[in-house]
Amino acid sequence: MISPTEGASCSTNTDRGRAIAARVREFVLRQVVPYEKDQRWGAHGPSEEMVVDLRDLARAAALLTPQILADGSHLTYREMALVLRAAGLSPLGPIALNVAAPDEGNMYLIGKIGTVDQKRRFLQPLVEARMRSAFFMAEPASSGGAGSDPSMMRTVAKQDGEHWVLDGRKAFITGALGAGVGIIMAKTGVSATMFLVDLPNPAVHIERVLDTIDGSMPGGHALVRLEGLRVPSHQILGKLDEGFKYAQVRLAPARITHCMRWLGAAIRCNDIACDYAVRREAFGKKIIEHEGVGFMLADNAIDLKQSELIIDWCAEVIDAGAPGITESSMTKVAVSEALFRVTDRCIQVMGGTGVTRDTIVEQVFREIRAFRIYDGPSEVHRWSIANNIKKETLNKVAS
Ligand SMILES: Cc1cc2nc3c(=O)[nH]c(=O)nc-3n(C[C@H](O)[C@H](O)[C@H](O)COP(=O)(O)OP(=O)(O)OC[C@H]3O[C@@H](n4cnc5c(N)ncnc54)[C@H](O)[C@@H]3O)c2cc1C
Repeated sequence: MISPTEGASCSTNTDRGRAIAARVREFVLRQVVPYEKDQRWGAHGPSEEMVVDLRDLARAAALLTPQILADGSHLTYREMALVLRAAGLSPLGPIALNVAAPDEGNMYLIGKIGTVDQKRRFLQPLVEARMRSAFFMAEPASSGGAGSDPSMMRTVAKQDGEHWVLDGRKAFITGALGAGVGIIMAKTGVSATMFLVDLPNPAVHIERVLDTIDGSMPGGHALVRLEGLRVPSHQILGKLDEGFKYAQVRLAPARITHCMRWLGAAIRCNDIACDYAVRREAFGKKIIEHEGVGFMLADNAIDLKQSELIIDWCAEVIDAGAPGITESSMTKVAVSEALFRVTDRCIQVMGGTGVTRDTIVEQVFREIRAFRIYDGPSEVHRWSIANNIKKETLNKVAS
């Protein structure tokens, strides 16, 4: 954990972030990148043993959970942008540092709305990276459950004395396998409520871990069945029936932290592609001197800079205390699509080497394809932005 005074001699908040980010960058490139070839990194993410090893390294470097300072305060999102970008230079960096999804967003949410007892029981072990967590909202499309539209939620919670009994199925639950705590959303009448649940639990059945295009998140993404899951009332997170509101509290920061981490990964891919392009020759010259290749790398530089700037803009909005719902939607669409173009071009520039596992580029390309779906597919964000445009324009017309 970082001391609150680290970088305090620097003149601005971003200087403090820069000081931490420099240490994170050095740590990730020197100590984490070699683990990318570790055989314990399988199709459903690094094994639990590998996660422990990576976190031990970060702990020894005094860089574990760098977003939460020793006095309990949180880095600003402008600072987070620098630190998480450095962490993302390897897909394993955020896991090592304990700034990965879904734990980072879950810690943020429990920190914001959890009771003192909930924080002691569930937040503290997460901050100390002694356990992992999962967030249970989405449900299987095959049974008409919640996906893009959370109001379609079919998982229900019914009160039984001092307990609530949860039944339903959840889909794509990242890290459910191996998690020590889950935040489960269920319908309570017409609204929804969040419940904190100790895991593993005999009433929470992992039906299977899905085989997905990505593969960097520990535990993978699971299809889960909840069968008569009893949760004591004091484990409601926040207030009864406020689940959809809290999901928004978690979503905006969680969306942009994904952007920050994947920006770091795309920067690394671009460095690898540039290095290839200045060394490799074809038709009597370095391939970067062929306009077709040079232009792809120029477009990468433009996409990467635009991603950085829109992330910083959104971070400032959230730091100023605004919910940042529309801003984070705009940022998520812009960044996930820009980084997809960047990593696609990296592969193209590197020819056959680009599609092999000899470099991290093909893995990051697959990760970013999935990122265009989770935390809201691009179309859902565009649709919600368009709804706001319609409302604002009609208001202007009416006034
Ligand atoms: C890798 C991965 C990890 C995930 N991790 C988690 C997790 O940990 N916890 C969790 O709860 N969920 C998780 N999810 C689920 C994720 O949030 C959903 O996949 C996402 O919300 C989309 O829901 P869906 O898959 O049911 O797609 P659908 O709802 O079936 O949507 C399919 C497509 O319809 C289109 N569409 C939908 N609505 C509109 C609209 N209004 N306008 C225009 N087009 C529209 C979009 O193109 C969309 O991609 C994860 C998903 C993935 C892929």
